[in-house]
Amino acid sequence: MNIIRVSALNTNYIWILYNYSNECIVIDPGEAVAVLKILKRFQLVLRAILLTHNHPDHVNGVSALMQYFPKTIIYGPLETKNNSVHFLVSEGDDFLLLQKKFRVFHFPGHTLGHIGFYSAPWLFCGDTVFSAGCGMFCAELAQKMYESFVKIRHFPCNTLIFSGHEYTLLNVNFAISMLPHDQFIINYRNRVIKLRENNKATVPTTIDLELKVNPFFRCNNIDVKRSLNLSSDIKEKWQVFYELRKKKDLF
Ligand SMILES: [Zn+2]
Repeated sequence: MNIIRVSALNTNYIWILYNYSNECIVIDPGEAVAVLKILKRFQLVLRAILLTHNHPDHVNGVSALMQYFPKTIIYGPLETKNNSVHFLVSEGDDFLLLQKKFRVFHFPGHTLGHIGFYSAPWLFCGDTVFSAGCGMFCAELAQKMYESFVKIRHFPCNTLIFSGHEYTLLNVNFAISMLPHDQFIINYRNRVIKLRENNKATVPTTIDLELKVNPFFRCNNIDVKRSLNLSSDIKEKWQVFYELRKKKDLF
């Protein structure tokens, strides 16, 4: 199985997995034109679409793709039900696609029904984890997003994380503002700058790397806490996580 990264809209990544029989799966098609171009170029037949959550920049390409490939089977969480989804899936569901096993994980936070698809060693986590950062969430879902991060950190450390956006440069600049003396993050920033200057992607990332460069995986770090200047009523780890997200929003 191979994978193609398609840049779409402003910052989105759409992922296409294909096998040696030229059959493919598309994840989070926020638009159809860019996907159809690749399918044509590589002569791929679309067999399935996987949706992580119901935001327009992740689902808007579905109906046009279905017109070209009407036999495509669509998998998504309950919140995506109005996108011609055939299989509404949730935490723990397993299915086989192109001879590969996929397992569904619930990652609430960015949206309440957000899910991820895992086919070892690949994790398609939509807008949950970004390299050096995390997806947007509202106050009511802060604890759930924190718990989704905890869930993801327990995946094998060589897991490849395929996020839905390229936000790494901004994220890593924020990470440095929180941990200005962390040499690993400084080195990572230099690498990210070079990649982006050459219009190259910084995604997929790995659990191993994110545990080192992503401040949202390091809420317990004493320097992160110091940089946040926390008030005394912040006791829980998820509250620190939320304070970090609020600080990032202002960055
Ligand atoms: Zn989204």
